[in-house]
Amino acid sequence: MDRYPGGLLYSVPATCEEVDIGHRVLVPLGRGNAEVPGTVVDRLGSEALAEDGVTADRIKPIIRRSDDLPALPGELLELARWIASYYVCPIGITLANLVPAAVRKGVGTATRLLISPHPTPPDPRPRLGSKQRAVLDAVLATPTEDLPIASTDLAERTGVGGTATVRRLAELGLLSIETVTTVEARARAGSGLEDREVELNAGQQAAVEAIGSHLEGGFSSHLLFGVTGSGKTEVYLRLARRVIEAGRRVLFLVPEIALTPQTTARVLARFPGAAAAVLHSGLTAAQRHREWRRVADGDATIILGARSAVFAPVPDGTLGLVVVDEEHDASYKQDQAPRYHGRDAAIRRAQLAGCPVVLGSATPALESWHNATRTGRSHLHRLPERAPGLSLPKIEIVDFAEERRQLERGGARLIGPRLGGEIARTLSAGGQVILLLNRRGYANYIACPDHRCGWVMTCTDCDAGMICHQANGAIARERWVRCHHCDAQLRLPPTCPLCSKRTTVFGLGTQRVEEDLARLHPDLARAGAMVRVDSDAMGGADDFHEVLDRFRTGEIRLLAGTQMIAKGLDFPGVRLVGVVNADTALNMPDFRAGERTFQLVSQVVGRCGRGSTAGTAIIQTLQPDAPAIRRAAEHDFEGFAERELADRDRFGLPPARRMCRIVVRDGGESAAMRLGTELADRLRAHDPGPDVEIRGPIPCSIARIAGRYRVQVETLAKDAGTASRFLARARLGGVFTGPLALGEAVAIDVDPTSLM
Ligand code: ADP
Ligand code: ZN
Ligand code: ZN
Repeated sequence: MDRYPGGLLYSVPATCEEVDIGHRVLVPLGRGNAEVPGTVVDRLGSEALAEDGVTADRIKPIIRRSDDLPALPGELLELARWIASYYVCPIGITLANLVPAAVRKGVGTATRLLISPHPTPPDPRPRLGSKQRAVLDAVLATPTEDLPIASTDLAERTGVGGTATVRRLAELGLLSIETVTTVEARARAGSGLEDREVELNAGQQAAVEAIGSHLEGGFSSHLLFGVTGSGKTEVYLRLARRVIEAGRRVLFLVPEIALTPQTTARVLARFPGAAAAVLHSGLTAAQRHREWRRVADGDATIILGARSAVFAPVPDGTLGLVVVDEEHDASYKQDQAPRYHGRDAAIRRAQLAGCPVVLGSATPALESWHNATRTGRSHLHRLPERAPGLSLPKIEIVDFAEERRQLERGGARLIGPRLGGEIARTLSAGGQVILLLNRRGYANYIACPDHRCGWVMTCTDCDAGMICHQANGAIARERWVRCHHCDAQLRLPPTCPLCSKRTTVFGLGTQRVEEDLARLHPDLARAGAMVRVDSDAMGGADDFHEVLDRFRTGEIRLLAGTQMIAKGLDFPGVRLVGVVNADTALNMPDFRAGERTFQLVSQVVGRCGRGSTAGTAIIQTLQPDAPAIRRAAEHDFEGFAERELADRDRFGLPPARRMCRIVVRDGGESAAMRLGTELADRLRAHDPGPDVEIRGPIPCSIARIAGRYRVQVETLAKDAGTASRFLARARLGGVFTGPLALGEAVAIDVDPTSLM
């Protein structure tokens, strides 16, 4: 069925009970007609079939409806169809993403057998065995107010039971039985936060009123642009309450629950108890299943979750508001098929449900800014001031090249005198410190000290340098090298393989920052008041939350880590934020490098100044004049965005045009290039027209990962509609067939956010 990539066509026999979109059915598959479950994604009339050139008598009929899952809401199915078609992903894979595995497998499902005496038992009573008699007597002796009684309760109370016996008695017409399915799960943890109702400031009030006036008006799209700490969450929560009071549901998306525990806690504190459902990977499978069922049954009024919560099975016609917090966050984009963007899927979902969507950020994605300021597709609402009692930090840019020249040779320290001095001052004045370095490990260069030799250690399977890691723990100074692309790991080679000189390691890494800090503040390190936070140091979300708790109580004075600590944390004791090196993101070969740097610097800087005293932020950089860094230091998103959008216009890059990136992979270098050439040729043969540019093939920035060569072809189209129509034409015209079939070797990414 070409309308839905990967979909199959079946007929519905007249004898079959009503089958509709979203229903689960059993169908015969393949030559052996194996019975498999499926989901109805669409119903086509004879006209549509004729259009597709299909004759009805050649289609296999479905076997019957299946009740393994409740029917999916039609709005959700429509979203799935949009994702399959827009992101060019087989509908089966899309649907598999839609319903969590725990739900498909029915984890935690408990079936209870409820028993009561039959109202009209046969007379005379048939002959019964002794066990049957005992069970029947026990049911008849049960007080009326306890009926129907669950088979387990009966067994517990009377010592008799057994479902086989009960079922036999029901067959004999002596008992009535009913089975009830529930999902049992340990209660999820509460928020542990006390709700604090605040009085809205003028900006918040205006935003609530302006967006609030659209709540009954069908679909509308809003961008809530407010500096960090301007009280965006409070705006979402007020709107949410209005929607819930009007009897509708709210879908609230956050980047990653594990990294945004405070937002989650605030939402749960405002809407406690049964009203909220949380969908995220930190739950047990049974909990996830139960939360999903509660949403499907219409029991949850506010549904909170990360990217995939956009697929929450909210009953049709009940969704009243969709919120996407920190809408610029990279984690909204899924990096495997379907490669959908959670924000864009959320906008689509709101459109299908006919309700408003609110995107919020201090550093909106330029796509969203473009829509709010240039195309009129969404309404812009500004929160220009921080919430009462909060002030913007004073930001200072330190030219690290200059500082390094002043440091003694061989020192190669990562923390210069300006930042180091401020850390010491802040700590001795009782303040807390957050330090950001967006690179894990100890050092990112492993090389020969002799320039004439020039050996640099790279991964044998990837075109990428190896990263040096140090074993955790103070005593074991064991060093390893690891590839961050294929996870290969080796012991650090002690000498250069070419000239046998002692290997040196240099460059940046969070472990090295930790080492520098421990040298500067040994007492703090010994007392455990200084903690490194990155995915290597934190075993899981629980470790991270424990560290945050200890930071909140003041036991931890300094946090140093990757972007894990840049997001959404709100601690009044933080007086200083340091960015160890703002260049790490800036030097990426990606047209969004500037945008990312701006976001990262603004977000981490926003972590301070939340208490009564204004904070300070110090940014070390080798490029003190880079606009992304300058403008972030001036809290000037609008100035940055204007300049950046002008550049994107000039080079025809998103959001000025829509990009699609197709990567082909092969073990052989020339074979990969041949595949890329074939792909570009086929695409060019499908009438791209003047509004679609096809670029490539060219090797990807990382030309080889895990032994496979990577070549990319990009298409740039005038707008989303043009892009989508061209890709549909290419797909239906057979571009992605044979050696170019989408899958392991060929990956398509519509609106890509990562270009490595
Ligand atoms: P944002 O999401 O924009 O970064 P938050 O919603 O986290 O900002 O608000 C920052 C802090 O200010 C929070 O602790 C919040 O409780 C507080 N806050 C928000 N609005 C107000 C207000 N109107 N009055 C007082 N405090 C507020
Ligand atoms: Zn590798
Ligand atoms: Zn050498």
